[in-house]
Amino acid sequence: MSISYISIGSNIGEKTQNIDKAVEMLRNSDKIYHVEVSSYYETEPVGYLDQDYFVNIAVKIETDLEPLELLAVCQRVEQEMKRVRKIRWGPRIIDLDIIFYDDLKYEDENLVIPHPRCLERLFVLVPILELDEKLISDGVSIADTVKSLGGKDMIRMIVND
Ligand code: ATP
Ligand code: CA
Ligand code: CA
Repeated sequence: MSISYISIGSNIGEKTQNIDKAVEMLRNSDKIYHVEVSSYYETEPVGYLDQDYFVNIAVKIETDLEPLELLAVCQRVEQEMKRVRKIRWGPRIIDLDIIFYDDLKYEDENLVIPHPRCLERLFVLVPILELDEKLISDGVSIADTVKSLGGKDMIRMIVND
């Protein structure tokens, strides 16, 4: 059994409902157990700025899926929700990124774990920190990384929408 953290984001349509739907699909997947979900966070776009704000969450799962199998599940969720790829880092109905998978370091053309840009992104790390405030990745505490990026107050939690 492995523990993985997945970051989910949406910035088109009913963002929180899109996220709920993706979480539900993860919960219903074979070999994914015990899905824990963070609060919703409202976050500014990065990379491509001319688009609506995002809602992001993190989920922590226990799974017997291998990393590439887990990627396939995430991509199936994106496809079933009819995500269309147009602009890099542009608007999307749903995005699922595998951030951590145990202490694994993995790299091939389709999958890099830990997610290569995660340590620069408060919208990824703050929800993960909510689920596990003691998390360490590659010897570095996520809490310290968040502090060095400006702190968790830099992104806004959605209080009961
Ligand atoms: P970013 O990766 O910077 O967050 P993005 O999520 O918009 O950008 P996508 O278009 O969703 O990028 O994904 C591009 C490719 O990234 C996917 O086809 C997938 O194969 C690859 N990829 C590599 N590592 C991961 C990972 N850890 N989780 C999800 N996808 C990954
Ligand atoms: Ca992403
Ligand atoms: Ca992605």
